Amino acid sequence: MTTNYIFITGGVVSSLGKGITAASLAAILEACKLNVTIMKLDPYINFDPGTISPRQHGEVFVTDDGAETDLDLGHYERFIRTKMSCRNNFTTGKIYSEVLCKERRGEYLGATIQVIPHITNTIKERIMEVGISYDIVIVEIGGTVGDIESLPFLEAIRQMVADVGRDHIMYIHLTLVPYINAAGELKTKPTQHSVKQLLSIGIQPDALICRSDHTVPLIERKKIALFCNVHEKAVISLKDVDSIYKIPGLLNSQGLDDYISKHFKLNVSEADLSEWEQVIYEEANPIGEVNIGIVGKYVESPDAYKSVIEALKHGGLKNRVNVNIELLDSQDVETHGAKLLNSLHAILIPGGFGYRGIKGKIIAVRYARENNIPYFGICLGMQVALIEFARNVAQMEDANSTEFAPDCRYPIVALITEWRDQNGKIKQRSEDSNLGGTMRLGGYKCQLIANSKVHQLYGCDVITERHRHRYEVNNCLLNEIKKAGLHISGYSIDKQLVEIIEIPIHPWFVGCQFHPEFTSTPRDGHPLFTSFIKAAFIYQKN
Ligand code: GLN
Repeated sequence: MTTNYIFITGGVVSSLGKGITAASLAAILEACKLNVTIMKLDPYINFDPGTISPRQHGEVFVTDDGAETDLDLGHYERFIRTKMSCRNNFTTGKIYSEVLCKERRGEYLGATIQVIPHITNTIKERIMEVGISYDIVIVEIGGTVGDIESLPFLEAIRQMVADVGRDHIMYIHLTLVPYINAAGELKTKPTQHSVKQLLSIGIQPDALICRSDHTVPLIERKKIALFCNVHEKAVISLKDVDSIYKIPGLLNSQGLDDYISKHFKLNVSEADLSEWEQVIYEEANPIGEVNIGIVGKYVESPDAYKSVIEALKHGGLKNRVNVNIELLDSQDVETHGAKLLNSLHAILIPGGFGYRGIKGKIIAVRYARENNIPYFGICLGMQVALIEFARNVAQMEDANSTEFAPDCRYPIVALITEWRDQNGKIKQRSEDSNLGGTMRLGGYKCQLIANSKVHQLYGCDVITERHRHRYEVNNCLLNEIKKAGLHISGYSIDKQLVEIIEIPIHPWFVGCQFHPEFTSTPRDGHPLFTSFIKAAFIYQKN
C-alpha cells in the first residue's frame, strides 16, 4: 500500500493548537483502523529541544528510543497508540548538521551545497523514511506560514508532490477566524491572506481548519471555501472547547476523516470513537475532586510540566474525580514554609535540574511524609525524597546530591563515577558503567520487587519506563537508608541501579527515577497516577 502524507501548516498566529489538532486528526484516522503516525518538523536551529529552557519551550518529551523531542510528541502519544521514535521529530539544526557531516565526508562529490536541493532533499528523505511503515503520516510543520525559517520545510513539502504524487498528499492549513466584538462578526480575511501566502509558495491547501472562539457558521465557511479554492466540506470549524478530548469528535462530526479517505481513495471503516466518548463521559461525570500540588520551579510556564499535568488528569479520569492542579514555586515554599501546602490532598515533585528551589522541595517532602499526605516523586522528586529521608529519618545530616553539593558527607545521590560512602571510600569502580556523566535517556527495563506497592499496582514483575537524568541513587549508602525504613521496590534489570523507592508505613509515598508521565494516556491511564489520585481522594475524604 502506498503511504499517504497529510501536511499541517499554521497561519495567522501561532498557538492555535496545531499539535493537538494533528493528534486529534490522527486519532480519528486510527479509529478508522488506519495505521497512522505523526511527525513534527521544527524550524529552529537547535539540534533538538534538549537544551532549551523549559520556560521557553515547555517540557522535553522523551521517546522510548531515547530521543529528547518537542512536547507535541507527547500529545501524539496521548491521542494515538503508535509510539513515537527519534525519527518523528527533527529540527533545521539536525538537518543542517546531517548535510554538513556528509559534505565534510565528501559525499556530495564536489557539489556546491545549497538549501535547494540539499537541505530540502534531506527533509524529504527524513519524512519518507518514516512513511515506509504507515498508511498515513501526518506531518506538522512548526511555526507559522510567513516565517523565514520555515521556508525550506514548506518548499520540501511542496516538492513532495513530484515524489509521491498529488493523490497521496494532502495539505491542511490551520487558521484563525477571529470574532470582532465591536462588529459582532467573525472575520475571514486573515484566513484568506494566510492562504494567499501559502499559494505564493506553491501550496494550495486541500482543507482548512478554522480555529475560533465561536462556531464558524456555514455561510462563513462557504465564503472561505470560495475565496480559498477549497471544497466547502473541507472547511472545518474548530471552536474553543472545554476539553481537548472533544476535538476528535468535533473533526469527525464534520466529516474530516471521510473527506480524507475520499481524497486518498481509501476504503476504510467508519471511525469508532467509543473510547473517546468514554473519556469524555469520565471527565464530565466526576464523583468528587482533589487538589494536587506540583512543587516545581517553572510555575509561570505550565507547559514545562505538560505530561505530568496530563497524567494527573488521566488519573482523575480513571477514578472519576476532578483534579485541581496547583503549581507551587518551591522557592515560595522555602520562604513561607509548608503552610502553603495545607489545602492539598497530595503532593507531586516532578523532574528538574539545578539547585534553585531544592530547599523548598525538601520542606514539601517532609511535610507530606510526616503528615501522611500522598507523595509522588518523579526523578528529581525521588532524589529529593531520598535526601529528605536520609537527613531526617536516617540521621545523615549532610545528605545531598552531588548535583547540588559535590563535597557533602553523604552523597546519597551522585553520578555513578562519584559513588562513595561517608568515609569517601569508593565501592564501585566507575569503569564498570558507561552511564556516569552522561544522560540516561529513554526506555529501560525495571524489575519490581514482590510484595511492594508498585508490584501490586503494575501487576507484573518487569516494566519499561522512560528516563532522563544523570544522577543515580548511591548504592554505597543504601544500607543505612533501608535500615531506617525506606523500601527499594524497583531496580534496573541488572540490579545495579535503584529505580523506585517506597515508605511502607506511609499511606502513599512513592518515588521513581523514571518518568511515568510520558506513558500515561487518557484512554489507558497509568497505574502509578491512577493509584496516586485514588490515594489523594481517600486522603481528602478522611
Ligand atoms: N537533575 C537530576 C539528574 O540529572 C534529575 C533529572 C530529572 O529530574 N529529570 O539526575
